[in-house]
Amino acid sequence: MILKAFHLQLPKRCLLCGSVCRDTHQALCTPCLADLPQLKTGCSRCLAPLAGNMSPQTILCGRCIKSPPAFDQVISFYPYARPISDFILRGKFHQDLASLKLIGELMAIRFSESNHLLPNLLTPVPLHPYRYWKRGFNQSTEIARTLAKFLNAPLEKNLIKRNIHSVPQMSLPAKARQKNIRGIFSTHRRINGEHIAVIDDVMTSGATANEIARVLKKAGASRVDIWTFARA
Ligand SMILES: [Zn+2]
Ligand SMILES: [Zn+2]
Repeated sequence: MILKAFHLQLPKRCLLCGSVCRDTHQALCTPCLADLPQLKTGCSRCLAPLAGNMSPQTILCGRCIKSPPAFDQVISFYPYARPISDFILRGKFHQDLASLKLIGELMAIRFSESNHLLPNLLTPVPLHPYRYWKRGFNQSTEIARTLAKFLNAPLEKNLIKRNIHSVPQMSLPAKARQKNIRGIFSTHRRINGEHIAVIDDVMTSGATANEIARVLKKAGASRVDIWTFARA
């Protein structure tokens, strides 16, 4: 009983610098929060960096002009750089639930500050069953859970199904990624014109995001946004 009371009174420490957080709801202290790197504006559709000083509001990157992706917009808030990448790696490979919760909270805060449309439902990028079995959890589901709670938006954990084993995307060059991923996703139900946000930790080539969006649109989604914590 004494131990329990003591535990409850422990001050919350900042995940980055270890200093005591005054606001007990916050996983980062105010200076560390203010120091997080900011994502530079990019292509209005996929957030890829743009050359020159073009206005990002209306400008598409060369790739999105040449072959428009199936998703409507990528919504991502941080560059894939430290300490953002550390939170992702800690969450993904060390099952650091505090990191995953922080990721979800930061995404919710940044989303609330933006003027993006709230979707009808959130759904995570599914992990391959073998990797899920090995890891025991899907980091994207954990992030989506926090996000859904904070934004008071419906979460459908198993809308997207991952069908067959594929070579890990990270090991392939950009061009081979799109080919590798084709046909590995399907949906568990018909979609009735809903606006869907697909949640993931990081977006790199966008091949996975594009393929998932293609499948969701084919199943009946009216709009598909890709929400990621970081954009590489
Ligand atoms: Zn700190
Ligand atoms: Zn683009």
